[in-house]
Amino acid sequence: MPRWPHDDPASLAAFYGDPETGEPGKRLVPVVPPFQMYYAGKPIQKIMFHQKAAGALAAALNDIWISCGRDQAKVDRLGISVFSGAYNPRYVRGYEPGNPQGRKPRWSNHAYGAAIDFDAEHNGFNTGHGTMPVMVIDAFKRQGALWGGDYQGRTDPMHFEFCSREPLAKPVAFAGVQADGDSDQDGAEEVAGSDAPAATAAGGAAPSAGGFFSRARNWIVTGASSVGLTGLGAMTNGEVVAMLLGFVLLVIVGGFLVALWLWGKQNVADFIAKHIA
Ligand SMILES: [Zn+2]
Repeated sequence: MPRWPHDDPASLAAFYGDPETGEPGKRLVPVVPPFQMYYAGKPIQKIMFHQKAAGALAAALNDIWISCGRDQAKVDRLGISVFSGAYNPRYVRGYEPGNPQGRKPRWSNHAYGAAIDFDAEHNGFNTGHGTMPVMVIDAFKRQGALWGGDYQGRTDPMHFEFCSREPLAKPVAFAGVQADGDSDQDGAEEVAGSDAPAATAAGGAAPSAGGFFSRARNWIVTGASSVGLTGLGAMTNGEVVAMLLGFVLLVIVGGFLVALWLWGKQNVADFIAKHIA
């Protein structure tokens, strides 16, 4: 199971809070970079980031600092000391309310406080991989973040975000993934639009309708993925039956143990003698 919420409005809002209510903005905490960073040429002391992703951001920045041999000059040369924005409660460009195309409004992942941009000047929207060093990309990916330079179609190499595009184990009720990601912060230069039109991943996780086995399989896969077990999607019908029987057995044995624990041995023995044996 991915560490970060799936990149769709419902999953993001469930995890980070709904930008509609301003919730993510109330859950920001300061991340102090281990090296000096600059915003619009001025030194900054901290980056405000969502509390659930702040530890991962700090870990990635520390990783980068160590990879640079704790050398500020090297960090500066790579452009990583140039901060180009993080939390920003705004919509994906082209997906604002009342947009002329009639698209459903969609919040930028910056509106969740879970995305950060570096060196917008050299890593602008749709500039391929920009100048983003592999070492930096790797540091963020080790924390499970996605990199905008990987997006299909139009890239956003300044951009990292703490969400996932792995296919969902269960169907979700939303109408396809629109573009998102994107860059900048209020006042930062306007490079962005939306990034990848990644309509593929999440939209593809459609449920196969009906049928006892497909329903049972869905139920098992969903339950298993919620406790971190994945890869159960390809079960045969026999395996589905075996798992269901196993589950029933577990409930019976578990119920017996709970009864023992709650009522004591003598009472359970009496109950069995009276009602079952
Ligand atoms: Zn961005």
